[in-house]
Amino acid sequence: MYLKKLELYGFKSFADKVSLNFEKGITAIVGPNGSGKSNISDAIRLVLGEQSIKSLRGSKLEDVIFAGSETRKPLGFCEINLTLDNSDGLLPFDYNEVVITRKIFRSGESEFFINKTPCRLKDVHELFLDTGIGKEGYSVIGQGKIDEILSAKPEERRLILEEAIGISKYRYKKEEAERK
Ligand code: ATP
Ligand code: MG
Repeated sequence: MYLKKLELYGFKSFADKVSLNFEKGITAIVGPNGSGKSNISDAIRLVLGEQSIKSLRGSKLEDVIFAGSETRKPLGFCEINLTLDNSDGLLPFDYNEVVITRKIFRSGESEFFINKTPCRLKDVHELFLDTGIGKEGYSVIGQGKIDEILSAKPEERRLILEEAIGISKYRYKKEEAERK
């Protein structure tokens, strides 16, 4: 499985619709300061279900919607589409591509979709459990994350290792069952 495409509309500095295609292998994003490199990784985190605004460098969720410029009005919502290549079948779908969508509105509400079908944040979260992707996954390593892992308490470090070896879903299911 790999990241195939990222489409943004009205997200942070990307007012117009942009489509970024990624090839298999390594992609590096380069550009001057303030050109939107980090905004791209912020979009990937958000569409994978990130709820922490702090990690997205804003104070409210609506701060990720294009705020307007001298010549353009602010937008009312933004949309992020992330296409994953699933030809190896790692995600439990009979499709070669899985598209995750998140729309964010000025009210602070979000809508999620998997392959265009509306779903809950929980569904996106569950889809990626133990894949190493997702908001608790280690597919996005932010600044300071390495230090955080090194200085984590043993219990916290254990959670990271559990995700890596693929047993988080059993803990998650056990906790879900206990709650019912
Ligand atoms: P650096 O090399 O300094 O890390 P960068 O390429 O990572 O820079 P980003 O942090 O991705 O840059 O982009 C910052 C830019 O995004 C700033 O110009 C900021 O004004 C713009 N920006 C952030 N949020 C919004 C928003 N809601 N609406 C419009 N522009 C925004
Ligand atoms: Mg940056």
